Amino acid sequence: MQSVPVPPSAPTRRDLLAGLGLAAAAPLLLGATPRPARGAQPSRPYAPGSRTVLLRRASLVLTMDPALGSGPLGALEHADVLMQDGAIAAVGTALATPSGARVVDASGKLVMPGFVDTHNHLWQAVIRGGCTDRDLFGWFQGCTDPRRGRLTPAAVHSFVRLAALDAVQSGVTTLVDWVDIFSYDLVESYVRALAETGVRFTYAMFPPAPGSPLVAKVKRELVDPVPLASFQVATHAARAVESHNRAHWETAQDLGVMLNSHVLERPEQRADDPFGVLADIGALGPRLLVNHAIHLTDAEIAAAADHDVRMAHCPLSNMRLASGIMRLSELGRRGVKVGLGLDGGTNDSSDFHALMKAAIGLQRARTSEAGVFPQVHDVLRMATLGGAEVLGLADRVGSLTPGKRADVVVVDPAALNFAPRFDWIGQIVFNGRPENVDAVFVDGRALKLGGRLVGIDTDRVVREAEAAAARLRAAG
Ligand SMILES: [Zn+2]
Repeated sequence: MQSVPVPPSAPTRRDLLAGLGLAAAAPLLLGATPRPARGAQPSRPYAPGSRTVLLRRASLVLTMDPALGSGPLGALEHADVLMQDGAIAAVGTALATPSGARVVDASGKLVMPGFVDTHNHLWQAVIRGGCTDRDLFGWFQGCTDPRRGRLTPAAVHSFVRLAALDAVQSGVTTLVDWVDIFSYDLVESYVRALAETGVRFTYAMFPPAPGSPLVAKVKRELVDPVPLASFQVATHAARAVESHNRAHWETAQDLGVMLNSHVLERPEQRADDPFGVLADIGALGPRLLVNHAIHLTDAEIAAAADHDVRMAHCPLSNMRLASGIMRLSELGRRGVKVGLGLDGGTNDSSDFHALMKAAIGLQRARTSEAGVFPQVHDVLRMATLGGAEVLGLADRVGSLTPGKRADVVVVDPAALNFAPRFDWIGQIVFNGRPENVDAVFVDGRALKLGGRLVGIDTDRVVREAEAAAARLRAAG
């Protein structure tokens, strides 16, 4: 949620930033002098893929690959998952244990690919639970704007680390962060915090100015060196800033990455004609990711389907901000690739189970039809392989297909909120909670085991985020 109306004509630089909701960042940007790169390598570098792990005798494995098991989710009962060199090496029953393998008893547990969060703004953890009586514009004015301009590198690090770890502990293994215009030192801190968590991530950077060399510099010096990181160019499509949108699209093409735009989160944004702008600049295609896309017309849905435009659906945020309900059932009928997104501060938590449940529930509430798209298997696919397809990462993650990277989640159904077994697949969506996520592997590395984040002092992470938030309050 980064979407506010833009000025009607000939915006000045400062007006433009204000129109994009970036007024608070203007002084930072207009006077920003990038510092020399220090690199964003993790302070605790790890060697992805140096481990062999066998998840043994899982009660149910959802591979998301119909070729590997039964049904649309490729389900296997009493199966093993072998991870080697950071990749899925094999899935099947009674796999041999390679010498030196770490064996994890998964009996009684459910195994599936990690969640792919296609839209987030992690720094907004600082305003969780804030401005709860406001819509998007009010939330922006009351909660986001006053804090964005006062962020320091240390504060960014604290908030991003907190939210990224919350996402990981909830089963997210890949996330996309659409990041506001920030000065280089904030960007560096942001990327470093992400890299240190070990999560697979995409940094979507809003260029500080059309054609700014800072974009390529951030990609080259901060993002590309992180093994699990990728890059996108962020924008906010609107007629008043069409020339900027065009320049951002050209930058994305030059860098060979996706353009990532907020689109029609509020009905008032119809006046900005964001989808028309994206069409006019030639961006409609599989290299375009649009977020929210709630208030699309039939013609726009048809154009998105025809051009294979990718979408991020953020149902919890959309409900919270009174933004509306995405026409997900129509998009599903047209075969549009849609992933799920937590969407930063307005989600308030990183609960992917709640996200899946809301994605189903909103369409049923809208149509009064229990059979409407998405069903349980649809939403589980959207949360994993579907999200990977949206991001162009389906050749690497999203299913437990041997050869893909080992981004794996283990869910323990032996919990008061989950048991007893009726239909575990449905229960993942309707009963599951982050605390049922027993283990999380990214690129074969265990980030959560036995219900606890590995090597993370969570008390300290919380303490430092509290202190950073208190300092921001004091500065205001
Ligand atoms: Zn957003």
